[in-house]
Amino acid sequence: MNDAAKLASIVLEISNQKAIARGDGKYYPRTSAVSRCPRDMVFHRFGEPWSDDPEASWGTQLRFDQGHDGEDRMITKLEEAGIPVEYQQMEVVNTTPGGLKVLGHMDGIACVPPEYPLGGKWYVIDVKTAGKYMYSKTYSPTESKVSLNYRQQVSLYSEAVVQDSNYPGISGYKVSDLHFDGYEFGGGLIVYLAVDRPTKGYGEKKVDLPKMHICQFDIDPVEVEVWLEDTYDLVEDHYQNGTVPAVPDSNDEVVWRGIRCSPRWCRRYSVCQGLVPPNNKELEEALHG
Ligand code: SF4
Repeated sequence: MNDAAKLASIVLEISNQKAIARGDGKYYPRTSAVSRCPRDMVFHRFGEPWSDDPEASWGTQLRFDQGHDGEDRMITKLEEAGIPVEYQQMEVVNTTPGGLKVLGHMDGIACVPPEYPLGGKWYVIDVKTAGKYMYSKTYSPTESKVSLNYRQQVSLYSEAVVQDSNYPGISGYKVSDLHFDGYEFGGGLIVYLAVDRPTKGYGEKKVDLPKMHICQFDIDPVEVEVWLEDTYDLVEDHYQNGTVPAVPDSNDEVVWRGIRCSPRWCRRYSVCQGLVPPNNKELEEALHG
């Protein structure tokens, strides 16, 4: 490794050590976790720390930060295009059928002017930066191929209640019941920003895809109830009963059809797979009796 490469690896290492020191913090039900692996969530609920730290060279924290930066820039681009984004980062709360409070921060609400496609309606939006794989799976100029996990997140925001001291005038209102003069509620929008050059095909057949893409979808309140119960209530039930859910089927979306079950993507892989004992005594009992 030459000195320039060594210098880069020092920066990555320091950034990574900071991220490891933070870990994923104390467990609390949060909207962005709606598509997390339930087994990992239960481990977290028991207070189990990471067993598999990310490697510095992956730049996991940097990738996360890129997502945040992209979100801010994309919202600015929407506004420059004449699409106001209201209630940015508003705090909202869902209540599960079991009575748990699930906390979320919405990216915002976009009012699309009547002269635009999808116009005359307001939408709960979320901006996502997408790598090559996700972008190519999602991009379609003819149909909405929104990823299930993002649809779940925005659907939860839409069915949540506003609880934000910055917006006292609408406190206690359900998000989808908010009113914007001249606009009807239109559901959810995911705004995808491709982090790399988005392309399709190979060699001479390679074509460039647009740098950003938008998927619209409707909100189904019944689905939201099911997701709340099957995620947060399930995790809490396991914790209260001293049990742990089995490893999901490898075809299940929550483990990305098996891809997620590796130390590259799962921070508690070794505990889950029994390669190391858990730190937490209660979890040890739940796993091994
Ligand atoms: S290894 Fe797979 S099943 Fe186990 S906690 Fe991680 S994501 Fe879940």
